[in-house]
Amino acid sequence: MIVTLHASRAAPHNWVAGADTFDAVWADVAQATRVLTWVERSNMRELLALAEQLPTGAEWCLQLRRDGTRSPRLAMAAPRILRAATVAQKRGLRVAVRSVPLCLLGPYTDLALPAVPVEAGGPCAECPARLQCAAPDPAYLTRFGPSEVRARGPVELDVAQLERFAWVFEDMNPAPDSAILGRDG
Ligand code: SF4
Repeated sequence: MIVTLHASRAAPHNWVAGADTFDAVWADVAQATRVLTWVERSNMRELLALAEQLPTGAEWCLQLRRDGTRSPRLAMAAPRILRAATVAQKRGLRVAVRSVPLCLLGPYTDLALPAVPVEAGGPCAECPARLQCAAPDPAYLTRFGPSEVRARGPVELDVAQLERFAWVFEDMNPAPDSAILGRDG
């Protein structure tokens, strides 16, 4: 069973989901074998609590939101994602992260799922990892500067990780649409 769950509390989950779905989703969590979490500004501080409550043995994908004003600063979200991922792994979950720049994953690139390469400038332009990386787009670099990312050596993504988390790419869980919901943050 796949569930899309964004927090272990109703308010942040419902905010990200854009609907009051927490009670129904939470009721299914104990049976979940796959969990997808969208990481936005509003719920990135909820990830650790979630990691401590997801069922042992489940697959958990933390998908960083990278579109629009609900997207968090990369350097703020990445450590929280990695901390939650580490705790979840210690509890026996299998964890993947998606859309986090590879240089912000440090030694944890084995968690990464493939990204669609973007036209990126700054430190990304000559980075050996850029073809596999969810690098910040030019608008992000213009707004916040290039200091959050740093070129790194080439990265070989784990094929087994991609096979295990192929379900994430099946487009069954599109990001909640903030434009439709008329909200921000
Ligand atoms: S510097 Fe390299 S690893 Fe970092 S975001 Fe840019 S392309 Fe990715």
